Amino acid sequence: RFITFEGGEGTGKSTQIRLLAQHLAAAGHAVTLTREPGGTAMAEQVRTLLLLRGEARMDPMAETLMHFAARADHLAHCIRPALAEGRIVLCDRFTDSTRAYQGAGHGVPLTQIDALDEMVTGTTQPDLTLLLEVPPAVSRQRRVARDGVGGGDRYEDLADDFHARVAAGFSQLPARYPGRIVRVDGSGTETAVAARIAAIVAERLAL
Ligand code: C5P
Repeated sequence: RFITFEGGEGTGKSTQIRLLAQHLAAAGHAVTLTREPGGTAMAEQVRTLLLLRGEARMDPMAETLMHFAARADHLAHCIRPALAEGRIVLCDRFTDSTRAYQGAGHGVPLTQIDALDEMVTGTTQPDLTLLLEVPPAVSRQRRVARDGVGGGDRYEDLADDFHARVAAGFSQLPARYPGRIVRVDGSGTETAVAARIAAIVAERLAL
């Protein structure tokens, strides 16, 4: 089983994926928790390159290809081997983030992202994608609380209208992939959100 978590910054995605990993491990499942960009030594190096400050105007297609280059390595050396062993793979961000950030955010056509996804991801598509959503004011507040104003990586320095485009990009994805993507209300306590997610995973995947 391959489960991905998606959403903008400050939605609680990384906390919730950790809580789901604990929940599934406690139920006796073998769980691999990984993330994008990253997840292998090569892909983590690409992540460092992508998050470098001062490169705010990297060409959008170059950026897209770097995400897919990292993803190819991540699939080959982490995700596919873990799935082959029967492990549950939980991945913090995947191609839907490329659709939202490089697609909706930076204007790379979705048809091009989909073509790359077919080449790189192929049939290793997520069985379930949890899209965490919180009101923009809440995510902004959480981002600032975590990083300080302007204290994040280079993506966080981009203007609010970029974040608004990314959020709009994410919000259009469930209609495009109704069988796979489930929206999750990320507001409320960590425990309340974790319970919502556990219920969805139980219902959809019988885990
Ligand atoms: O989720 P996480 O905070 O680890 O993401 C790292 C950064 O990379 C975030 O600022 C995110 O917005 C950015 N990112 C991106 N395009 C992607 C994936 C992540 O701009 N496809």
